[in-house]
Amino acid sequence: MAIENIIIVGGGTAGWMAAAALSRLKTGAQVGITVIESEEIGTVGVGEATIPPFLDFNQLLEVDEREMLAAVQGSFKLGIQFVNWGKLGDSYIHPFGAYGYQIGGISFHHVWHKYRQEGDKRPIQVFNIETMAAYFGRFARTEDYQRDDLPPINYAYHLDAGRYARFLRQYAETRGVVRREGRVIDVALDGETGFVSSVTMDDGERIEGDLFIDCSGFRGLLIEQALKTGYDDWSNYLPCNRAVALPCIREDGSGPLPYTRATAHSAGWQWQVPLQHRNGNGHVYCSEYMSDDEAHDILVRNIAGKPGADPNFLRFVTGRRKKFWNRNVVALGLAAGFMEPLESTSIHLINTGINKLIALLSLEGITQVQEDTFNRLTAKEYARIRDFLILHYNATSRDDSPFWNYCRNMSVPDSLTEKINLFRNNGQIFREDDELFTETSWAAVMMGQGIMMNGHNAMANSVKEPTTRQEIDAMEQSIRFVVEHMPSHGDYLGKYCPAAG
Ligand SMILES: Cc1cc2nc3c(=O)[nH]c(=O)nc-3n(C[C@H](O)[C@H](O)[C@H](O)COP(=O)(O)OP(=O)(O)OC[C@H]3O[C@@H](n4cnc5c(N)ncnc54)[C@H](O)[C@@H]3O)c2cc1C
Repeated sequence: MAIENIIIVGGGTAGWMAAAALSRLKTGAQVGITVIESEEIGTVGVGEATIPPFLDFNQLLEVDEREMLAAVQGSFKLGIQFVNWGKLGDSYIHPFGAYGYQIGGISFHHVWHKYRQEGDKRPIQVFNIETMAAYFGRFARTEDYQRDDLPPINYAYHLDAGRYARFLRQYAETRGVVRREGRVIDVALDGETGFVSSVTMDDGERIEGDLFIDCSGFRGLLIEQALKTGYDDWSNYLPCNRAVALPCIREDGSGPLPYTRATAHSAGWQWQVPLQHRNGNGHVYCSEYMSDDEAHDILVRNIAGKPGADPNFLRFVTGRRKKFWNRNVVALGLAAGFMEPLESTSIHLINTGINKLIALLSLEGITQVQEDTFNRLTAKEYARIRDFLILHYNATSRDDSPFWNYCRNMSVPDSLTEKINLFRNNGQIFREDDELFTETSWAAVMMGQGIMMNGHNAMANSVKEPTTRQEIDAMEQSIRFVVEHMPSHGDYLGKYCPAAG
């Protein structure tokens, strides 16, 4: 059956990202695209930190970065600072760029470790421009400092979720996407194929479609409630299941930090996402170990300003749908699954879901191979991200609360145990299945949380001397010089993409 009508159920970040991306289909084909959303139900209203591949989404839409950042009160993000994770009082940055660069085909952390063993005391962080700029609260883009002896600076964005959905809505509507306000109260399945044939609105209208994109959030209106796809529950690995969000107006006169901060508490952790006009804050916690009131109190005591809204309490179960594409329904966003906002991977998964859908989509109709491929690739992505998230909880020496005792002692997937053992052994990190997180990501979190390399790749001992030492000294000096000449993040935003109002 040809695809003439695409119905997107849900108008949160997932729904409008899908609508904006798919709207480009309309220039080449007669295809109707409708977004159904209900103001009465609303959106989760959180999800404000992204990771670098998100920049490609702007490119897909041909959206100007400055225009987008100004519209969403956006700021730049160079990585995530983790506080109190390995042990109380600890802090490290997981940066977006790499530590150093490959030397003689060997990853930099091996060479760094060799020098470390020979008495060089410099921490690996001084060889990473994103970390250094973050520590000094500064920011510049590669184009601004024009140095060919340093790798490009990697960044992502912090954005106001509500404004971003409005920005995308305007983009999509301008390109012919139709928005339908109202509640879906019923979903009809075709008696023969089991495909979703239509949804019924609260005013009685039936809206028919050929392909349905379920962006209805945690409830999974089509993928779960109608198609009973099933859910893999990962709470045993990622036990947090509640969050309370509370934005605040910064009161200490400080500008926005160029990174997200994740501070561990006794039964979870708190995020701080700095936007131009406010900080987004929230406390993610596990209800088995902490009550809502306690979580809220901890959050209020630890935000850098006065609350700018009422607290927003959210419930979730970490895991994923057993299938992300089932018959003629593709689930994106929270309808597909949710693992934890710790590494800001949810919007990324919406983005990669859209990319895969666009690549596989044929307006001629839906075939089993499309469904199977989409599900196989997405399942791998989820599994790799899941392992990386578990690492943060499991690699801790915290023993100050029952929550951390559980996390420290929980059993973890074999794939993660293997990664940790290889790294401990001689710093080896293999990226599998095109996984999202880089060698530096794994190394930063492992070392940041106390998993140290006992040795390094033997090839590191054969680097050229004294050339290599001179090279890495020069690298450190260049990074320091460039960072010293960067403007503060606040000043940069003020000039580059000041938000209206
Ligand atoms: C605590 C927390 C923190 C997070 N932080 C981050 C982060 O920093 N970075 C990141 O990448 N992601 C983060 N996420 C995830 C991110 O918020 C989501 O991926 C993103 O907002 C997409 O949500 P959504 O569009 O899938 O769902 P929602 O925002 O819930 O939207 C659902 C839509 O469906 C509509 N709908 C539902 N039922 C019906 C119905 N019956 N009829 C009509 N319409 C209906 C609603 O009106 C709404 O428009 C976080 C999530 C949580 C819970």
